Amino acid sequence: MSHEVRMLGTGNAFLPHERHHSFLIFDKKHIIDAPPTALLSLRRAGISPSEIETIFVTHLHGDHVFGLPFLLLEKKYISDREGNHPLTIVGSSGVKDRLRQLCTLAFPGSLDDALDNVRFIETDTGVIDGWNWERFRVHHDDAVDPFGYRFEHLDGCSFVHSGDSGPCQNLEDAIQRSQLAVVEMGFPQWVPSDHHHKPDDIQALAERQTNVKLLITHTFIDSPTSSFEPVLTDSFPNHPENVHHLEDGDTWIFQNSEWMQTNN
Ligand SMILES: [Zn+2]
Repeated sequence: MSHEVRMLGTGNAFLPHERHHSFLIFDKKHIIDAPPTALLSLRRAGISPSEIETIFVTHLHGDHVFGLPFLLLEKKYISDREGNHPLTIVGSSGVKDRLRQLCTLAFPGSLDDALDNVRFIETDTGVIDGWNWERFRVHHDDAVDPFGYRFEHLDGCSFVHSGDSGPCQNLEDAIQRSQLAVVEMGFPQWVPSDHHHKPDDIQALAERQTNVKLLITHTFIDSPTSSFEPVLTDSFPNHPENVHHLEDGDTWIFQNSEWMQTNN
């Protein structure tokens, strides 16, 4: 059995050039977060919102959830008018109310029925589509209920999504038990905060977790494909071999017991 993780966006909140907000889809039907650029990312990849079965919410910052009203609106009026494609949203308790507020603010009244049809799962572990998932607390702004997720399929495939987080023990433990980890690097080295990974944190993590492939997303670095003056910088740190700085569209597949990058 093969699995796929496809990066639909790799930028942090500030959208470095040629990047959408950090966003991924796995096995072509489960997404992690719903950033403001989510619908744009799906369109660019030729994926219909009606194909999405599950949204795993890491936390409630705008660059991670403000795209949800557009996904629900699109499903309701275009790709799922008959309501044949049920949606499940997995998130901590409190996520449901906040998302309802968000949808009411965005399109008053229009999304009430769409939200009523969403199945919300608030437990911190579960099974979806053969994937055992667990949600674990991470180190970020506590006001937005920050979590990461770990997924392990019945066939042995595993990966972690850090959500937004600085280095912390829960994340370290989850990564240690996994084959692949999608980890954010939201801050340049000079920012005086530990709520995101910085290049030196990724360096240290890579040296501790030599057996895990670390895929870096939510980055502050412009894509090398940009010809504009960099928003902040376009130079990448020189990280160890198990670190892979992602670009929008990058796809990794799990085949023959191993994760590897494909050329889409
Ligand atoms: Zn955040």
